[in-house]
Amino acid sequence: MPPVLINLAYLVASALFILGLKGMSHPRTAVRGNLMGAAGMLIAVVVTLLDRRIISYEMIIGGLVLGAAIGAILAIRIQMTAMPQMVALLNGFGGGASVLVAGAALVEAQVAGAGFETQMTVATALSALIGGVTFFGSLIAFGKLQDLITGNAVVFPGQHLLSALVALSAVGLAVGLVLRPESMEIYWALVGVAAVLGVLATIGIGGADMPVVISLLNSYSGLAASATGFVLQNNMLIIAGSLVGASGIILTQIMCKAMNRSLANVLFGGLGAAPVAGAKADDVYGGKVKSASPEEIAILLDSARRVVFVPGYGMAVSQAQHAVRALAKLLEDKGAEVIFAVHPVAGRMPGHMNVLLAEADVPYEALLEMDVVNPMFSQTDVSIVIGANDVVNPVARTDPQSPIAGMPILDVDKSRTVVVIKRSLSPGFAGIPNPLFAADNTLMFFSDGQKAVNDLIAAVKEAS
Ligand code: NDP
Repeated sequence: MPPVLINLAYLVASALFILGLKGMSHPRTAVRGNLMGAAGMLIAVVVTLLDRRIISYEMIIGGLVLGAAIGAILAIRIQMTAMPQMVALLNGFGGGASVLVAGAALVEAQVAGAGFETQMTVATALSALIGGVTFFGSLIAFGKLQDLITGNAVVFPGQHLLSALVALSAVGLAVGLVLRPESMEIYWALVGVAAVLGVLATIGIGGADMPVVISLLNSYSGLAASATGFVLQNNMLIIAGSLVGASGIILTQIMCKAMNRSLANVLFGGLGAAPVAGAKADDVYGGKVKSASPEEIAILLDSARRVVFVPGYGMAVSQAQHAVRALAKLLEDKGAEVIFAVHPVAGRMPGHMNVLLAEADVPYEALLEMDVVNPMFSQTDVSIVIGANDVVNPVARTDPQSPIAGMPILDVDKSRTVVVIKRSLSPGFAGIPNPLFAADNTLMFFSDGQKAVNDLIAAVKEAS
């Protein structure tokens, strides 16, 4: 194919990527956006295969079939609640692929013996560095989220100094590779040091900060791909990588804002470290927790004019979204105003609650963001917290030592009555007790999320 046609096709694919991203910024257009992005990727892959004078397609097809099979099995089998670790792993594979492709390009250039262009060697060094950090950092993030290693921040004396020294040696090796690109030893040494850097950068982050790390690693995987695009002189990879890098950093920024933290504070703050400071569960709950039956809650709901549902991770675990939608409909039919309050880090991935509620056909207009809904709690009769914990923990406002200090929360405690549905008094992701459960205006309904909501539906029907 003539280069002009190749570049034209790449331009079309890039436009589709950008339109796809725009589409995905709203639930109503998200499916179309996703399809546009996929179509762009198809064009990019087909055109690249035609462009690159492929000697044998067998290996490529073999890799494609194997990769597609593994990816499909993983995607089908993965629980919705384990999505963050899956995303972490996929980001990591992106970084790992950049390391391997840039390394292969270096070997190819060495064998060809036609000399090295500086642009290529700089990009190779960047691919090794960023790709290595992404791959190994993502493996640590996966291990934390999958509970293979501690989910808390691991901090030790001199950690920042050690990280700075490792970062300096990485820069030194990167410069070394640019000066001596014929040395594969320097390349792999750089990858090794990047691995240590990735591990150091990720083990120091834990608790409620994990969403930020995942979106940051996502951004890194894009930057690594973009650097590899310069190695291969492939405009498509440069553009696609830059888009992933930029959107990842924007998402990181949004997550930081949602938790009222600066990125530097997340990366170097070492918050979420064990042991967690703050009150003991016995002191917080001792003798103060009141539980209620579905029938008692149904009586409250019968006269409620405004009901706010606050979903969290437990709604995802118990797959209660359809039951929640049915209860909401029932209450609306009885004349109540029903609102869904969605915290940006509720669940285990950005947009987790939005996806689940959209699946249950809850209208987008009923989903209100934190800033909009918070002033409404003081005029709310009943807030039903279903499987949420950290995102409604008032300690974030009151205890500066807490791992979630400063994180804006949903102010459910300001409602007239709060009903909390969860199985026990166990803590949420951040591992701390929640004084909301012992508040005067709170009633606990200890049960599995889906079962609890179904019981409530039956009790509300019974009461009316
Ligand atoms: P939490 O993790 O704070 O709490 C979830 C609660 O759900 C638990 O206390 C648990 O209590 C309850 N639960 C679990 N299973 C069930 C069930 N079957 N039925 C009913 N309840 C159940 O969730 P939140 O959504 O409030 O907060 C999210 C946390 O996760 C934040 O700390 C956030 O930073 C973090 N995070 C968020 C990510 C994101 O991108 N959104 C990614 C990674 C982490 P019990 O066991 O008693 O039932």
